[in-house]
Amino acid sequence: MSSLEQNLEKLETYLARFRQDGILNQIGGEARPAASGATFDNHSPVDESLICKVARGGAEDIDAAAKAAKEAFPAWRDLDASNRKKIMHRIADRIVARADEIAIAECWDTGQAHRFMSKAALRGAENFRFFGDRAPSARDGQTLPSPTLMNVTTRVPIGPVGIITPWNTPFMLSTWKIAPALAAGCTVVHKPAEFSPVTARILMEIAEEAGLPAGVWNLVNGFGEEAGKALTEHRDIKAIAFVGESKTGSMIMKQGADTLKRVHFELGGKNPVIVFDDADLDRALDAAIFMIYSLNGERCTSSSRLLVQESIAEDFQKKLVERVNRIRVGHPLDPATEIGPLIHKTHLDKVTSYFDIAKSDGATIAAGGEATGDKGWFVKPTLFTGAKPDMRIAQEEIFGPVLTAITFTDEDEALEIANGVDYGLTGYVWTNDLTRALRFTNKLEAGMIWVNSENVRHLPTPFGGVKASGIGRDGGDWSFEFYMEQKHIGFATGQHHIPQLGK
Ligand code: NAD
Repeated sequence: MSSLEQNLEKLETYLARFRQDGILNQIGGEARPAASGATFDNHSPVDESLICKVARGGAEDIDAAAKAAKEAFPAWRDLDASNRKKIMHRIADRIVARADEIAIAECWDTGQAHRFMSKAALRGAENFRFFGDRAPSARDGQTLPSPTLMNVTTRVPIGPVGIITPWNTPFMLSTWKIAPALAAGCTVVHKPAEFSPVTARILMEIAEEAGLPAGVWNLVNGFGEEAGKALTEHRDIKAIAFVGESKTGSMIMKQGADTLKRVHFELGGKNPVIVFDDADLDRALDAAIFMIYSLNGERCTSSSRLLVQESIAEDFQKKLVERVNRIRVGHPLDPATEIGPLIHKTHLDKVTSYFDIAKSDGATIAAGGEATGDKGWFVKPTLFTGAKPDMRIAQEEIFGPVLTAITFTDEDEALEIANGVDYGLTGYVWTNDLTRALRFTNKLEAGMIWVNSENVRHLPTPFGGVKASGIGRDGGDWSFEFYMEQKHIGFATGQHHIPQLGK
């Protein structure tokens, strides 16, 4: 039996209970259908077949989940943090034990290639271990004494929080947001993306098995404009951590205004990889290809704009075309596959619409440029060359395996092009000139920059974007700044003068 056939056989075992019972919400420790009884269909992007029915949560379900999270909050907040740490480590252990199931289910639900998803589950486990280890110090503060007062600062969890996640690498991103919230002592209502609900349900099961108290983490499936909107508007939800499109972030800000929600946004990107002529060009080529064509290009940190110095552009782009044409598009459960299908038909239509836009704007399609396969939402990895910085293909987030190459003559022009977009999530700079790297990164408008490297995530470092790419940072202690309130307490150290009125 081939590896693909083995994976398909395992898939059926893993999905059997979802196929039979559908995916339910989880509120106050109880698996429940939507209060309205409504469901929606979840299809696989691989062959368009029905995976399962999913509870279509709405305002009533969000209200029940928010109440459960509010009720569970005091006990979770006051639990000795070493116990929170133990539970979070148990969750990590169980994620590792079920990594194969998570990877296979995620591939089928999202179209992501198995070679990448097999690692995503382990990264999810690491998120729980990393933040679990920090739970005991999350409340730590400082003393800032003044002549008359012993000033103490401490941190307290903000309360029940809403977490809204997208369909790209949904398992990893759910763990990335939920783990720090739990470590901080917050309770959670999670609304996963409607296009990829399977692994959020598996993760919820894992948390229950690990002994997480009922109501600490609640799951409500449904659509953005129904369950998502209700979550952002709920009075008992004190903050919203959101990962998704920039325009959705803007809607959430408006929806949360009446209840003064604190918001944390990880949004879109149009990230440049800038290759100077003095760089190690073989490594730059490997990294540029990896950062746009892995994960189907459905990756917020993808290097979707290649800015290449004119003196080396012809040769660099020639090698790029050869490599792009060799990238293997195929079944996501085949270990040889490098690119699987895009998440859904509307997204495929969006991505392929840029092929005509590129042509009519005067760019060249140097590789790919068409959908492929007779079922499922597959697209060939695509390269646009001869693009100008103001073209739509150089400005808008396409969110697929599509790279736009633009040439530049010198450092100033490279910087102007790199910064000339609405977004500012990541940047990748390739040069062996250290002073240029320092000068350039200093002026590059991005929340995260790598020099002579692809994106290598290190959990203690801050993750997030500037401009339309986001608000706030996650990672290390930065996550706790969002999920916790700073609290000041001043203790008088003597009998200092108090101004006297009405005496
Ligand atoms: P999306 O904004 O369409 O949806 C994300 C989530 O928001 C879903 O759960 C959806 O149901 C919900 N939602 C939609 N409308 C809502 C509303 N009015 N109120 C509340 N919730 C609502 O995004 P997507 O298409 O699922 O994901 C792709 C996008 O996510 C891309 O733009 C990508 O760059 C971005 N992303 C960013 C990061 C980052 O770290 N910066 C990481 C991953 C993805």
